[in-house]
Amino acid sequence: MQIQIKRSNELISYEIPFESSTLLKALYHIKNSEDNSLTFSSSCRSGVCGTCAVRVNGKEVLACSYSIQEGDLVEPLAYHEVQRDLKVNKQKVRETLRTATAWLQTPQEALINEQQVQLTAKQTDCILCDSCYSSCPVLEVNPNFIGPFALTRAYRYTADPREGNIQAIVDNIQSNGIWDCTLCGNCTEACPQGIDPKMDITMLRGTASQFGYTDPNFQAMDFGFGGF
Ligand code: SF4
Ligand code: SF4
Repeated sequence: MQIQIKRSNELISYEIPFESSTLLKALYHIKNSEDNSLTFSSSCRSGVCGTCAVRVNGKEVLACSYSIQEGDLVEPLAYHEVQRDLKVNKQKVRETLRTATAWLQTPQEALINEQQVQLTAKQTDCILCDSCYSSCPVLEVNPNFIGPFALTRAYRYTADPREGNIQAIVDNIQSNGIWDCTLCGNCTEACPQGIDPKMDITMLRGTASQFGYTDPNFQAMDFGFGGF
């Protein structure tokens, strides 16, 4: 079957001589037999590390888990600096974790029961593949948006009984943060780990409202009531 790969600004077609194949296997085939200059990232090859995320036909996938189809168009993740072919620089996007201060701010001792552990167990499964970030339409118009995975991690710590200063995290995700999300759900659909950043952002909005924050977009809306 034939697939296309975006390399620089060019689409290049490759013939893959397998009836079925993961995308990663196909990429290694091209590199080893046709063009060893093809550049991409991979590590664990088993869906655990998140290194090989790319876009296929506009949707984010892990190359090691995705089965190629005739005519697939393979591209690097969106909103990342492309270093070469499918290899992107994730360093700048990692900075969003720092912006969101997504770690324990003021650790305190706390008894944690199983129910509380389960509350954020899913969020801790994040493998930092950046698929959610690549799928988010807000980054198209606001490159400073903190983005889904950092907000999911921020939620994980606001829900942690060991955090003694939840407001410190909430304060740091107001600007370019929770209120900029359109709740489109793309990130939730893109996540290979079944994490739901859209829901986590919704939960963070609820927590923010407990600290007196309101949706700035709502305040700016004109409901046509004039001076009433
Ligand atoms: S739900 Fe929010 S964070 Fe997720 S992709 Fe949509 S706009 Fe981005
Ligand atoms: S939340 Fe999901 S899609 Fe986003 S970086 Fe983590 S594992 Fe990847």
